[in-house]
Amino acid sequence: MGLHHQIVIIGGGTGGIMVAAQLKKAKKGLDIAIIDPTETHYYQPANTLVGAGLMDYEDTQRPEKNFIPSGVSWIKEKVADIQPDDNEVILESGDKLTYDYLVNATGIQINLDGIKGLKEAFGKNGVCSNYVDPEYTWELMQKFKGGNALFTQPASPIKCPGAPQKIMYLMGDRIAKDQLEEHTNIIFATPGTMIFGVQPFKDELENYLVKYHIKQRYGYKLVEINGEKKEAHYVRLELPNGSDNYVVNDERNAAGCIGQVWEDGVRREVQEVNSPFKMTKEGTHYIIKYDMLHLAPPQSAPTWFQKTKLANQDGPNKGWMAVDKHSMQSTKYPNVFGVGDVTDLPTARTGAAIRKQAPVVVKNILSLMGGEEADCKEYNGYSSCPLVVSPNKMLLAEFGYDGVRMSDPLLSKFFNTGKASYPMWILKRHGLPFMYWNLMLKGYNF
Ligand SMILES: Cc1cc2nc3c(=O)[nH]c(=O)nc-3n(C[C@H](O)[C@H](O)[C@H](O)COP(=O)(O)OP(=O)(O)OC[C@H]3O[C@@H](n4cnc5c(N)ncnc54)[C@H](O)[C@@H]3O)c2cc1C
Repeated sequence: MGLHHQIVIIGGGTGGIMVAAQLKKAKKGLDIAIIDPTETHYYQPANTLVGAGLMDYEDTQRPEKNFIPSGVSWIKEKVADIQPDDNEVILESGDKLTYDYLVNATGIQINLDGIKGLKEAFGKNGVCSNYVDPEYTWELMQKFKGGNALFTQPASPIKCPGAPQKIMYLMGDRIAKDQLEEHTNIIFATPGTMIFGVQPFKDELENYLVKYHIKQRYGYKLVEINGEKKEAHYVRLELPNGSDNYVVNDERNAAGCIGQVWEDGVRREVQEVNSPFKMTKEGTHYIIKYDMLHLAPPQSAPTWFQKTKLANQDGPNKGWMAVDKHSMQSTKYPNVFGVGDVTDLPTARTGAAIRKQAPVVVKNILSLMGGEEADCKEYNGYSSCPLVVSPNKMLLAEFGYDGVRMSDPLLSKFFNTGKASYPMWILKRHGLPFMYWNLMLKGYNF
C-alpha cells in the first residue's frame, strides 16, 4: 500500500509550482504533493539573454526548495508511469502514490537524437542551442569572425517558438557592431512559411530581418547535421497554396534579393549587401555550410508519458496530453488536469501561457472538491513571446487561439507592445524575471 495525497502534481517547474502555490493560497489545509527530482529551478526565458552574453547563467537558477510552497510535500523522485484508472502514480523506484486529483506538469522533452548527426555534433563543431546550453552559444558568438551563421528550428512543436529567432537578432546586432557584415551570411532556414504568424508583430520583425541582412529560407526541414564537415542538410517541404509570397526561394536569392520591408504601408524590395551564400544539392538534400549553427532541437512530450492513457494515442497531437482547451481538464479522466508544455493546447508553449492556465486549473479542482462541475472554461489560448531584437529593444507578441492578437490591458495603456522599444527591453531584462520569482511562483494571480 503506497502513500495517498489529495492532490498530486507531477513536475515542479513553471506550471507545477504555480498551481501548487495558488492552491495553497486558496485553501491552506489542502494535502498536496509535488513529485520532481530537480534541485534547481531554471528561469528558462532568460536563456536567450545568457546565450548573447547579456546575463549570467547562474542568475537564472535558484534552489527548487525555495519554491515548494510551505505545507506541500516534495517527493524528490521521477515518475515512471500513471495509471489513471486506479488514480495511481508509479515512481521510478517502484513506489506508488494514489491521489484524488492529479495535475500533470512534466514539461517538454528535448530529443537530441531526433536529427541524424545532431547528438554527435552538439556542443562542438559550432553547433549550439539555447534550449540546452546557452553558455556554449555565447562562446560561439564571441569566437565568430565571419562566415555562415545558420539559425534553424525543427518541424515538431517546440517551447517558446520565438526563441530560435530571438538569438538570431542578437547575433545580427553583434555582427553589425563587430563590422563583420561584409563577410557574414546570417541565414534563417525553417520549416515554417513566414517569420511570425500574427500582425503587427510580423511586419515589425521583417524590419529587423532586413536591418540585419538575414537571408530566409522557408519550407526547409533540417534532416541531418554533419559535424565534421560543418554541413546542415535540409529537405524542401511543399509550401501550402496561398502561403505568404514572402518566401525567399533560390531564384530570388540568386537575383540578390532578401525580401521586402514595410515603409509607410508600402512594401519595398531590398537587396542583399553581400553575395548570396552557396547552397548545394545532393539528391533530395539541400546543404548549407555553416561556421556557427544555432538550433532548437526536436521536442516532444516525455517518452514515458506518451505511453500513458492520458496522452493522445493517435492523430496530429499524438503523445501530448489530451486536455479540454478551455478548462485544462483531461478529456479522458475528470479528476486529472494538465498545465504547460506537456499539453496538446493549440497555442505557443510558454511560461506566459501557464500564467493564464494555472488559475483555471485551480478553480476547477476546487469546484470538483466542492462537489460541483469543472466549469471554469476561461483559458482562451493566451500566450506571449517577448521578442528581443537587440540588446536594448524588445516587442511583446501577445496572442490567443487562432492567432488572434491580444494585449495586456495594463501594458498596452502605456506602451505600443507591437513596436520594439527600450521600455519593453527593461521589462524583459528586469521586470519579467522579478515577476516570475516573486509573484508567479509565489501563487499570485495577476
Ligand atoms: C530558450 C528558451 C526561451 C524561452 N523564452 C520564453 C519567454 O520568453 N517567455 C515565456 O513565457 N516562456 C519562454 N520559454 C518557455 C518556458 O520556459 C516554458 O514554456 C515553461 O517553463 C514550461 O513550464 P512547464 O511547467 O510546462 O515545464 P518546466 O518548467 O520545464 O517543468 C517541468 C518539470 O517537470 C519535471 N519532470 C520532468 N519529467 C519528470 C518525471 N518523470 N518525474 C517528475 N518530474 C519530472 C522537470 O524536472 C521539471 O522541473 C522559453 C524556453 C526556452 C528553453
